[in-house]
Amino acid sequence: MLISSPTGANICSHCVIQAQQIIQDETGTHHKSFKTFSSLQEVPKPAEIKAHLDQYVIGQEKAKRTVSVAVYNHYKRIMVQDELDDVELEKSNILLMGPTGTGKTLMARALADFLDVPFAIADATVLTEAGYVGEDVENILVRLLQSADYDVEATEAGIIYVDEIDKISRKTANASITRDVSGEGVQQALLKILEGTVAQVPPKGGRKHPEQPLVSIDTKDILFIVGGAFVGIEDIISRRRKKTLLGFSKGTEGEQKLEGADLLQTVEPEDLLQFGLIPELIGRLPVVTALDDLTRDALRSILLEPRNALIKQYQKLFHLEGVKLVFDKKAIDAIIDKAKESGTGARALRRSVEQVMTDIMYDIPDQKDLRECRITSEVVKANAAPVMKFAKS
Ligand code: ADP
Repeated sequence: MLISSPTGANICSHCVIQAQQIIQDETGTHHKSFKTFSSLQEVPKPAEIKAHLDQYVIGQEKAKRTVSVAVYNHYKRIMVQDELDDVELEKSNILLMGPTGTGKTLMARALADFLDVPFAIADATVLTEAGYVGEDVENILVRLLQSADYDVEATEAGIIYVDEIDKISRKTANASITRDVSGEGVQQALLKILEGTVAQVPPKGGRKHPEQPLVSIDTKDILFIVGGAFVGIEDIISRRRKKTLLGFSKGTEGEQKLEGADLLQTVEPEDLLQFGLIPELIGRLPVVTALDDLTRDALRSILLEPRNALIKQYQKLFHLEGVKLVFDKKAIDAIIDKAKESGTGARALRRSVEQVMTDIMYDIPDQKDLRECRITSEVVKANAAPVMKFAKS
């Protein structure tokens, strides 16, 4: 069949299809097909998973190892569950603890990318029990379904990251005194989908209503990674450790002073209970690991090293205009200083770099014959102009 344009040019339908394919390949816009593993051999080994995480997530060695093993076990469990009739392998949902901006979300996202499975992020603080004002917990599944292009099979093997899980804790560990209904209710609702249920979700999200067709999603093989900063849990852990250690060593002997992620790694279910998670939910999060506050060196590496490092991204943007972008070492130091001050981990890096670069990027396209733009520490600290080099004309 020939298709004619208003100007009289013709193209055959075969060429249209081929051209569409080429455009899709070039732009990466074709319908994404997700991976479903068909044998254990296809599941990447923990070391392969970690090697991938290493490309994106700086530091956090312990967390990366733990998560790699947990993810491997998760998909292994899915592969072999039909063959096992005597032992039931438990689902290895993961709890990531650590300060904000240290790579929790990044790690979950990098995992999903590598495994080529659908991925969705939810914020626990906006979730409510069904029927209350706010977002139904089941809407998380809708988001996963959407990210899977409505492929239910892929959705059922996807990964969901639930952020700020610590913010839905009960306000007191003793439920009989005060019941913090909202937090506890959301935990209960989350628990249901975490442990595995067949949920009926409206494919477009929002509230369910009777005339709407619903999609069934079985959550038993969806991997849940939940994360939170758990501010204050260090004290709970330290107090508990002190008590146990006192029991054994009558005082200072054997007492190891731990802090940061090392301390968080020693968390016990009873600490999480005291913090305000309900016991059933704790029971469904068998893998717990902690992320560390990022050091200056880690922040520097984050700026410069990962495949999609911020500085590399800006250099690419400048390169597209034919300009070489250079950062002085001291400028990088100054960016790190600013980020450290803000206390939001690596998240602050982006903000500090953006603050510096926005004005410069505003001007660059108008600068004729510009070849190099050098960012000095003064540019970062005092908004000075960058050092520009122009081609000799
Ligand atoms: P959170 O721990 O609060 O979930 P995120 O993972 O969202 O933090 O981190 C915010 C941003 O900071 C990420 O998108 C990434 O650019 C950067 N970042 C944070 N931690 C790391 C890390 N360990 N390695 C590389 N980049 C990181």
